[in-house]
Amino acid sequence: MNILTKLTLRFSIITASILVLFSLAVYLFSASYRKEEFYQRLESRAVTTAKLLVTVKEVDKALLRIIDDNSVPALPEEQVFVFDKQNRLAYSSTDDTSRTYSNDLLNSIRKAKKMRFEHGDFEEMGAIYIEEGEPFVVVASAFDRYGKSKLGNLRTIMLLGLPIGIGIIVLAGRIFAEQVLNPLANINDSVSKISAGNLDQRLDEGNQTDEIARLAMNFNQMLERLEKAFELQQSFVANASHELRTPLAAMRSQLQVELGKVRNIDEYQSILQSQLDDVDALSDLTNRLLLLARTSMEHQRLDFSLIRLDEVLFNTQEELARSKPGYNFHFDYNALPENEADLILFGNEKLLSVAFLNLMDNACKFSDDRTVTISLEANDAAVSISFKDNGDGIPPSDLENIFQPFYRGQNTQTKTKGHGIGLSLCKRIIEMHGGKISVLSMLGEGSTFKIVLPVNRV
Ligand code: ADP
Repeated sequence: MNILTKLTLRFSIITASILVLFSLAVYLFSASYRKEEFYQRLESRAVTTAKLLVTVKEVDKALLRIIDDNSVPALPEEQVFVFDKQNRLAYSSTDDTSRTYSNDLLNSIRKAKKMRFEHGDFEEMGAIYIEEGEPFVVVASAFDRYGKSKLGNLRTIMLLGLPIGIGIIVLAGRIFAEQVLNPLANINDSVSKISAGNLDQRLDEGNQTDEIARLAMNFNQMLERLEKAFELQQSFVANASHELRTPLAAMRSQLQVELGKVRNIDEYQSILQSQLDDVDALSDLTNRLLLLARTSMEHQRLDFSLIRLDEVLFNTQEELARSKPGYNFHFDYNALPENEADLILFGNEKLLSVAFLNLMDNACKFSDDRTVTISLEANDAAVSISFKDNGDGIPPSDLENIFQPFYRGQNTQTKTKGHGIGLSLCKRIIEMHGGKISVLSMLGEGSTFKIVLPVNRV
């Protein structure tokens, strides 16, 4: 069953039930009020007759009959009977003798003092009336023609009105449900038209306040993220292919030139060595690309274990010092924590080492003195590591882009080799560890890259 039908059905059932219950209550209360009111009128009629007959000495049976016969009856088809203490009929307001009352009934009235009962369509009221110690029983009987007819009319109106009312409710429910679901249907329509080719499409956000508008807004935000991720992916593939194609093309043309003539062994050796260097560079590039792709998978925690950050840092420094003997490393121990345990965190040693290596390499690569100053600080919550250099600094226009994959700053044209992958890889590695990387740089005064890693990540 679809939501439209469900909503219509629920709305109709609830509203129709309320309508039926309300109608039923109106009918039952009307019936009860009619009965109550009619019995009260019967009682007052009975008491008046008994008073006139028994208490008012000037009125006797014959006079009372004349009065009753000649006055407009207070109640339709009313009859009033008065019985003496031997249950003999002392007075009857009519000549009709068909209605009789048993001794049992009259005795019950005496006992109960007041009694209501029915005889066919007639409602009857019996009451005891005591005058000078003599207990009379007076019974008034009448047919509530008007009350019952009014009640009948009410019943007819309800029996005819209820199905019509319920029909209107179902119709209104359907319109109401359609109105409620219309924005959803529109969203559904728009969403079904969105594919990889038109991720720039957005849903109508309506009044931007109700729940459906919020759904559309959230969906639009998701589309925004998807579009960005998609664009990033596309530019990543394009950049990666470009980075791989350029050195491959260079190797190919170099090999073509070299193959153009026969050479001696030494020349071949130097050609092969140069090719080997190029292959190494390519292999390094593909490894970084692979790492970048792997670390892009959000929330993936590749082989995490407890590691000591200072050890990772020293090992990485030694590794870099071996491959780049011209680099200088200074460690600032001033802020080292007293408690070594503060330097232990849950992470991936290999990846963190890649990030540290890259930051140390950049600091030396981009400064004339080839020197990096590394400082390590820790507290209960986090460890922070800074890599400071004395280079030329990064221009503000580059600062906001340097963490993008394949972005290389203005300072690379003259100086250094690279592919612009290092910092984006660092950022992803640090974020995988729940940390943050930031940079402070002033032109002419060098740059400081700072990593903050939370330690409670087990
Ligand atoms: P690569 O070093 O291969 O160019 P990175 O992603 O490591 O790529 O760095 C991106 C860019 O950020 C660099 O091209 C450079 O312009 C700038 N950069 C990074 N580190 C420094 C630094 N310590 N000093 C100056 N510029 C830097």
